[in-house]
Amino acid sequence: MSVVPELRIERVRDSRLAQVEDWARLPFASVFADHMLVAEYHDGEWQQACIRPYGPLMLPPTISALQYGISVFEGLKAQRTATGAVALFRAQENARRLNSSAARLVMPPVPEQLFLHGLRELLRLDQSWVPPSGQGALYLRPCLFSIDESIRVKPAERYLFTVSAFPFGAYYSAPVDALTSSSDVRAFPGGTGAAKVAGSYAAALRADESARAQGFDTTLWLDAREHAYVEECGVMNMFFVIGDEIVTPSLDGTILPGITRDSVIVLLRDMGRVVQERRIAIAEIIAAHERGVLHECFGTGTAATLTHLRRIRHNGHDIELPAISEQGVGAVVRAKLNAIATAREPDVHGWLDIV
Ligand SMILES: *Cc1c(COP(=O)(O)O)cnc(C)c1O
Repeated sequence: MSVVPELRIERVRDSRLAQVEDWARLPFASVFADHMLVAEYHDGEWQQACIRPYGPLMLPPTISALQYGISVFEGLKAQRTATGAVALFRAQENARRLNSSAARLVMPPVPEQLFLHGLRELLRLDQSWVPPSGQGALYLRPCLFSIDESIRVKPAERYLFTVSAFPFGAYYSAPVDALTSSSDVRAFPGGTGAAKVAGSYAAALRADESARAQGFDTTLWLDAREHAYVEECGVMNMFFVIGDEIVTPSLDGTILPGITRDSVIVLLRDMGRVVQERRIAIAEIIAAHERGVLHECFGTGTAATLTHLRRIRHNGHDIELPAISEQGVGAVVRAKLNAIATAREPDVHGWLDIV
């Protein structure tokens, strides 16, 4: 692994922070923080990284990130704790996942120290962009992509690693309606479903667009072979509360290994709940609903943490979920997770990194 050189820092002259008027109501990705991290890889190693004013990159139109989608990304949050400190949540897991996504596209790994040190330095510089405690989070978007000027299809030799950031408000994510897709699939065995590769998200747009045209919010993805098993919902991992048990699809290669998913499983097991990681058929969900034992369905992901489903439609069959209770599994585990991420509860699993 190459050594990480010093970070060079170029500060903005005028901060754009004054554009933020109401933290709590700030829409997602509406204003970017002042600075970004940029590091370049060429000649087999990472070059000096820098933090500089957020803004456009000058790149040729023929880079293979644009031509062939050689691009992977990450998403994580920094939040202000009750005492006003800034905390990153499980950032090392994001560093590792970025590198497993990168390996899928034959890209070089980003050294963990570059990833973590770069994030910390960026946060130190843009700490005033982290919303006040309880009023939202600063979302961090690491991205690794090829900048080879090459029309030949081959692994690239030059890359950029960038980290951009934006604050967003502590919005309550209302329950969503999801429609299964009978034509498109998100992932298939041997494909890139378990990696955060840019192209997967482009390929998912059509089904989501079709779901919206039919009055739904998002797509409930089924497996590619049989269209029988539930995989994910939009860009969230899925959980079903059936009777006393909680079921989530197992990580069999077509599921994105969500860090929120993992955290939720750990916390539920800490609470003494039974969590099964296994394949789950849409027919089983429908049957559980008909027996009256399907209590909750929710999705998990960094941005909204946990979002309930209100309705699922599959092949013309509607599943209406019961109204959400604050004592329910989802609400309780979301509150617990948010309390840990803002240091209001002890961090027994060592998930927080106070910057
Ligand atoms: C990022 C992502 C998730 C959630 O992962 P987190 O680490 O919890 O944010 C789930 N599904 C897909 C397809 C994703 O891209």
